[in-house]
Amino acid sequence: MSGRSPTRRRLAGHAEPASVIREDVLAMSAYQVPDAIGMLKLDAMENPFPLPAALAGGLGHMLAGVPLNRYPLPDYARLESRLREAMRVPASAALMLGNGSDELISIIAQATARPGATVLSPWPSFVMFEMSARLAGSRFVGVPLTADFALDRGAMLAAIDRERPAVVFLAYPNNPTGNCFDPAVIDEILAAAPGLVVIDEAYQPFAQHSFMARAGESSNLLVMRTMSKLGLAGLRLGYLAGAEPWIEQFDKVRPPYNVNVLTEAAALYLLDHLDLFDAQARELREQRARLIEALRLRAGIRVYESRANFLLMRLTAGHGCGPAVWRALRERRVLVKDVSRMHPMLADCLRVTVGSADENAQFLDALDRALADCPAPSSGAPDPDRANRS
Ligand SMILES: *Cc1c(COP(=O)(O)O)cnc(C)c1O
Repeated sequence: MSGRSPTRRRLAGHAEPASVIREDVLAMSAYQVPDAIGMLKLDAMENPFPLPAALAGGLGHMLAGVPLNRYPLPDYARLESRLREAMRVPASAALMLGNGSDELISIIAQATARPGATVLSPWPSFVMFEMSARLAGSRFVGVPLTADFALDRGAMLAAIDRERPAVVFLAYPNNPTGNCFDPAVIDEILAAAPGLVVIDEAYQPFAQHSFMARAGESSNLLVMRTMSKLGLAGLRLGYLAGAEPWIEQFDKVRPPYNVNVLTEAAALYLLDHLDLFDAQARELREQRARLIEALRLRAGIRVYESRANFLLMRLTAGHGCGPAVWRALRERRVLVKDVSRMHPMLADCLRVTVGSADENAQFLDALDRALADCPAPSSGAPDPDRANRS
């Protein structure tokens, strides 16, 4: 998807994309992954620590013995049982593996897309909830969070009652706001929802609170996790835990070899070294606290509490300062995520991955320089650059 420039030439032959491809797909823009070569990359919640050399060497040696001429065994029984044990998936829950949790979201959306079906999520939240629902042909309803990014209990329960959603997605902690929703309100949502409630725990290593123990217990609760934010984003492995009758249906939609043999073997190998990833997560939680403290000392910034490995901060000096600071950071080779156009609630907000101590120091240094030359536009003045973008 990244770096592919659209071809504007006419294709030889008869067919043109415009007459064959779905209209909603034609109208979409591709998921943008910015070019990050040579940049300090703090935009995608990646773990900053490479594998220790000895572990990488052992992994390479082991992977060399994996038979690439063979298809994966379609039931992934060994990896499933290893994951169950390592991640404390309760015996009452069935498990399904995905090529990242992105694929699991897409499978849930496809399997539930009956005519007229609705997918609901508090909003702003993870963009793939909306995207997968729409691509599957379902309606998507986003229920605005409160001003401090909490679940709007009344609005959520009213929307569930009105829309009768097939699926409610709850990111816990939420991306891009970083907070965990009130578990008591989640319980009310579980009780009120006529369909499934999927709790997306992508940031569980940094949140230290989980619904996993209840997967399989409550009939409409599914808990989704991923190895990505733990330090293995490139591996592409997510898992979904829930009551067997649901997983059995989703498994029919899952492409049969969706987890490749290298991912399977590497995950099995690395799950024996979870203590390393746990220690890294602990270090990142400490770095998160320090970064929040450092940002609080700076004028013109409001930083929000986070239970994830990223922080949401708002540039408060004036309207347009968020994108201006984003550009100034990029000029200093620091890449963060500009979420200011995602939702009006996120005006002038940037999302920053928590990195290593060294990376965070570099980020703060670049930020101070960026703030120094960010001309805070007088409030209310339209930002010409902003008006040009959708
Ligand atoms: C990053 C993220 C994911 C995607 O995880 P993959 O397993 O890498 O596909 C899922 N949900 C949320 C909320 C995320 O932020």
